Amino acid sequence: MSRVYNFSAGPSCLPEEVLKECAAEMMDYNGSGQSVMEMSHRSKYFEPIIEDAENMVRKLMNVPENYKVLFLQGGGSTQFAMVAENLGIKNKKAAYIETGVWAKKAAQEAQRLGVQVDVIASSKDKNYSYIPKVEKIEGDYDYAYICFNNTIMGTHYEYIPDTGNIPLVADISSCVLSEPLDVSKFGLLFAGAQKNLAPSGVTLVIIREDLIPEVENCLPGTPVMLSYKTHADNGSMYNTPPCYTIYVLGKVLHWIEKNGGAEGMAKRNKEKADYLYDFLDSSDFYRATAEKGSRSLMNVPFLTKYSTGNTDEQSAAKEKEINSKFVKEAEQAGFINLKGHRLVGGMRASIYNAMSLEGVKALVEFMKKFAEENK
Ligand SMILES: *Cc1c(COP(=O)(O)O)cnc(C)c1O
Repeated sequence: MSRVYNFSAGPSCLPEEVLKECAAEMMDYNGSGQSVMEMSHRSKYFEPIIEDAENMVRKLMNVPENYKVLFLQGGGSTQFAMVAENLGIKNKKAAYIETGVWAKKAAQEAQRLGVQVDVIASSKDKNYSYIPKVEKIEGDYDYAYICFNNTIMGTHYEYIPDTGNIPLVADISSCVLSEPLDVSKFGLLFAGAQKNLAPSGVTLVIIREDLIPEVENCLPGTPVMLSYKTHADNGSMYNTPPCYTIYVLGKVLHWIEKNGGAEGMAKRNKEKADYLYDFLDSSDFYRATAEKGSRSLMNVPFLTKYSTGNTDEQSAAKEKEINSKFVKEAEQAGFINLKGHRLVGGMRASIYNAMSLEGVKALVEFMKKFAEENK
């Protein structure tokens, strides 16, 4: 068996221990004679699985008592609508900080649903390569919205904006449990699982109870399935939940606990990210695109310096050529999914919790060799 180093932005690599456990339990989970894929979500076998997953989220993220933990479907993207429909109901007005594609999509969705969106800060001026500093958010907003880690741009908040009484909503899809986070500072947190928690198919939502409206008080036309109340009242089992994904998520959470919890992940992630950024910053062949002070621990976009500073067509073409050569040769060497997002270009290494320091070191060795051969 040979495994690759997978630097995908999502779905992404999972801890091998977890994959092995899943394989071992595939034909007969816990003496049930079935796999978790096949069993009723109302069975005595599955109920402890979802309970354990919730308890582990509460434990590892230190979730206060007055917050609900929900397991929903529809990915991070469905939350863009759910947030607006459930929270944008009083003044129908919300503040958004625009830090890239995901924040922008969330703002557009709210606007489409009739919420007045004020973009109170943006880093568009420098192609979203930094996080704007917004110390305080004030106004008659129903909520304020941020994307805490910008998967495509490779930027990350190093502070939490002070919103006073305005509930703060954060998309933490690509940084959940990568480091400790004070849940009590937020009204709502959500994360699509396929970056740092599980295979795709489940979205973790953590919401302060007093922010959950009755279905009738959501924006007009809100479907029952898009009301947080529906899922909160039914323990995330109003309809069939993504059972197998929740099962794997539980296993990943136990793996995180075994490896030191959120603090352990932060230590491991800083070590990996520092190793890669230090190399990029000292290289005369590559450079990181995200500004210092805003850099993500999870997603590291980088360019080759081949044509930096030259904007003429010929050198742009040359850079494109060298980038695709990099991606191709990396793949042949067992480092996959390094092609950058088209909005940033170049390359991107996503180094989520499950990626080892060993994997990052091996990548840097490959990068050194490639630079040497293509100077
Ligand atoms: C991937 C991602 C999303 C979209 O998630 P889906 O589950 O594909 O809808 C939203 N926000 C962030 C920050 C992401 O990284």
